[in-house]
Amino acid sequence: MGKLDGRVVLITGAARGQGEQEARLFAAEGAKVVLADVLDDLGEALAKELGESTAAYVHLDVSQEADWTAAVVAAKDAFGKIDGLVNNAGILRFNELVGTPLEEFQLITQVNQVGAFLGIRNVAPEIGAAGGGTIVNTASYTGLTGMAGVGAYAASKHAILGLTRVAALELAARKIRVNAVCPGAIDTPMSNPEGSDPEAIAGLYKKLVPLGRVGQADEVAKLALFLTGDDSSYITGQPFVIDGGWLAGVSLF
Ligand code: NAD
Repeated sequence: MGKLDGRVVLITGAARGQGEQEARLFAAEGAKVVLADVLDDLGEALAKELGESTAAYVHLDVSQEADWTAAVVAAKDAFGKIDGLVNNAGILRFNELVGTPLEEFQLITQVNQVGAFLGIRNVAPEIGAAGGGTIVNTASYTGLTGMAGVGAYAASKHAILGLTRVAALELAARKIRVNAVCPGAIDTPMSNPEGSDPEAIAGLYKKLVPLGRVGQADEVAKLALFLTGDDSSYITGQPFVIDGGWLAGVSLF
């Protein structure tokens, strides 16, 4: 028996990276998964691989409300209901705050923060209508602390934790639990867009991260599974850090 048997979960940013691993793990645990992304070729190929009875792909730019409306219709057409949402899609840009163009700050806010808000606004009523379920928002290590050079991103991820807490309070009566994952450095195209030498990256994280390595997308997927399944039945409104100990503090040794 799978941990998500009978569940229908919409995952944004599911074409690659953490969203892809969440889709694969959730499907392996019995869920029907609706894969949403703007990378249509990758998303469609993944849905095909997982199989028509298990996965459906939908084009969804999370920053566009009309796309959300269409995605909800497509998900219900494919699998009859939605009782889980993973707000995973996100973008990152590097810039000092005083050098960040307004358009860049607004783009990051629109995708990361407004995208999660639109997901909650459009999908929570469906989850409620299905009798309850879960929302997992993807924040970040930088949702809980600062990091120079990613001001707009960090602001959007702090906002996700605010959304998570308020949504948990407001949706508890509809039997919807809302939590957030806060990954540290995870090995995906976002953290390594140039596809840099894994050895060089390994050296960086050996010093920075107490566990001495970068995290893997499937490790975040396991946390998202915990928060989507019944194993977390008495947990809502919380951020969950998954960072190899990075946020624990500094070490002199
Ligand atoms: P990734 O870049 O591999 O995947 C992000 C996915 O989101 C991609 O498939 C991309 O096409 C999709 N996406 C981007 N903009 C979108 C939009 N407007 N609408 C729909 N989909 C869109 O990166 P990842 O590491 O898998 O990131 C997943 C989430 O984890 C993001 O929210 C990111 O901010 C967060 N995160 C990542 C790390 C890390 O180190 N990789 C650390 C902390 C948090």
